[in-house]
Amino acid sequence: MTVLQASRNVSKLFGRPVESLLGQSLENILDDYQADQFRRGLAADNLDLMNPTKVWVRRIGDDYGVFDAIVHRSADGFLVLELEPALLQENIPFLGFYHLARASINQLEAGASFQQFFQMIVQEVRKVTGFDRVMLYRFDQDGHGEVMAEDKLPEMESYLGLHFPESDIPKPARKLFLSNWIRTIPDATCEPADLYPALNPQTNQPTDLTLSILRSPFSCHLDYLHNMGVQSSLTISLMKDDRLWGLIACHHRTPKHIPYELRKACEFLGRVIFAEIANREEEADQHYRIKLSQVQSALMEAMSQADNFIDALVQGDPNLLDIANATGAAVCFNGHWTTLGRVPAEAELNYLTQWLAKHVTEEVFHTDSLPQVYFEAERFKDIASGLLAIPISKRSFVLWFRPEVIQTVNWGGDPNHAYEVKGTEVDLQLCPRQSFALWKETVRLTSLPWQAIEVKAVLELRKAIVNIVLRQAEELALLTQDLERSNAELKKFAYVASHDLQEPLNQVANYVQLLEMRYDSALDEDAKDFINFAVDGVGLMQTLIDDVLAYSKVDLKGIECELTHVEDALTQAIANLRARITETHTQITYDAMPTLVADRTQLMQLFQNLIGNAIKFCQPGQAPQVHISVERTEDTWLFAVKDNGIGIDPQFFDRIFVIFQRLHTRDEYPGSGMGLAICKKIMECHRGQIWLESALNQGTTFYFALPVGGLDPSHANRWKTQNYLFSGR
Ligand code: ADP
Repeated sequence: MTVLQASRNVSKLFGRPVESLLGQSLENILDDYQADQFRRGLAADNLDLMNPTKVWVRRIGDDYGVFDAIVHRSADGFLVLELEPALLQENIPFLGFYHLARASINQLEAGASFQQFFQMIVQEVRKVTGFDRVMLYRFDQDGHGEVMAEDKLPEMESYLGLHFPESDIPKPARKLFLSNWIRTIPDATCEPADLYPALNPQTNQPTDLTLSILRSPFSCHLDYLHNMGVQSSLTISLMKDDRLWGLIACHHRTPKHIPYELRKACEFLGRVIFAEIANREEEADQHYRIKLSQVQSALMEAMSQADNFIDALVQGDPNLLDIANATGAAVCFNGHWTTLGRVPAEAELNYLTQWLAKHVTEEVFHTDSLPQVYFEAERFKDIASGLLAIPISKRSFVLWFRPEVIQTVNWGGDPNHAYEVKGTEVDLQLCPRQSFALWKETVRLTSLPWQAIEVKAVLELRKAIVNIVLRQAEELALLTQDLERSNAELKKFAYVASHDLQEPLNQVANYVQLLEMRYDSALDEDAKDFINFAVDGVGLMQTLIDDVLAYSKVDLKGIECELTHVEDALTQAIANLRARITETHTQITYDAMPTLVADRTQLMQLFQNLIGNAIKFCQPGQAPQVHISVERTEDTWLFAVKDNGIGIDPQFFDRIFVIFQRLHTRDEYPGSGMGLAICKKIMECHRGQIWLESALNQGTTFYFALPVGGLDPSHANRWKTQNYLFSGR
């Protein structure tokens, strides 16, 4: 062991020039017994066990200097021996500290708050070290520190509750706190003593002194202490999950040297109590985690059983709000919103999702200050300053909201001016701010932050929703296949009916009529009636076949959508019914009709069926009156065909839209029972809806609604999901 470098102030402590130490072996400087101790420690490869070792160094004459020696190996592999003057202080009984710490913890009842724990740490540390001020800092997610507890001389300024911006502890210093858990500056005013020679002669580089306890405090740290009016400090890092959770910072107004063992004891004390805090935090997290996972499984279970998974998310208990502890939630699925709790207006939600679709590519997005990234959100900050969002697809989202929480943050100095830059551009120097005057900042447009476990829970939920949506898409595809197949079969049947059945039917009609003509004289009245019945039956069958054919022709593939003047379709329908209108003295009135995108022929057929029914099912002895009105709602054209006829018992509302279903005999009212089934199919092809309002003898109003965007695909799904509503309301 040979001395390669030594600090210049060695000359003062040892009473000999620093040069005289270089190249010397340790044995020449220390006595044999002590050198032997170091050799043994090194051989056992456990430097920690040696720390601290008391060493006596002979000064000139018979005078001895007594030091606490602490040895460590630097990152570049050299042994660094640090000597601190040994103070006349009894060795600290290590176990005694443990008991002290445990006793303090036990004193606090189970229900003690974190605040009480923090307070206890600073009090205990101050009691055993005698520092003027001991503070406990905690760092938040952004790296800003807050003084959580403080114990100090009464006359000193209080920093309790103050926030210190992240920049107060620069990154390199943070790194140091991470690698070296306890650091001390016994005298911030003393002249720094350089190493001699400055470069390590073996490497020609400066020796790595990161792990050194006594050396190289950052000059800005010294300035910082100076600005705070203190001359010495001790800092203990509090680590949780390899992260700097906080610091215990001790300050003294005059130089103060804390011996190694006492420092270690403080570190230990801080850690034992901190372990308890970490435990409690963990426990609180754990409880919340369990609660969230219960909510999560309940929602998933409900979703898997419900017909509509969105109902399962909003109607039950627990619901969407519980999984993220939110005050509002909204699900946008296929352009349709379902909301829960306090949420922004639908128009705002639409803009917000457009923004999300454009800017968010991840599976989850969260912010506790939406207005900072999406300025429009300021309009609804009281509802949604915080946003947690999971995109399911480009057009489907689940969103959670939290309102603005206005917090007042007490900064220890203006965080925007944490450092002043001194010097020229070439020689930039950061100087910690001079003033620690309380600087209040009101944090606006910010909600409570989303916790990592909440974000994780909604990500799990997202997976479940995506699975359900995929499954439904598959089912829908199968259903569409089935529908297409049955449509094709129906068409085939209609074709067979119209051609193959037509021929034998004509044959029956022709031969029966031939029978009547040829054997007219031989037939009595009854026989003639029977022949007439047979002819009527053939006629009816002809109509039924024609109607089935008409029904089968209405399908999505055959639809020809074009810009249509509704009035043209309506007047054409009225013209087709002209004979019956005249005969029954029907009065028809209608509003101004819009122009929209639809299949003109189908629209005409729809009017013709509805007006035809209005005339047919009139009150005996009363001239039918029919009025056709229209109004524009947010996204539909809503038509109504109102009559003054016999009305319909509401219990049959569903039935009348089914093919061949009628409520009367053909003797009372002629017809095939296909008219409304065709109307319903026309509406399906236009992604519209049809329903009615009526009561017996009260007249009937048939409503039908057509989407304003016609068959535009962006409107398509919305209507598809509601098709099941077709058979009345
Ligand atoms: P059809 O008119 O050939 O009987 P529809 O399918 O058009 O067949 O109508 C089904 C049934 O609905 C009718 O038989 C009738 O009982 C009832 N209905 C339809 N429109 C009206 C109306 N405007 N007033 C009263 N009843 C009606």
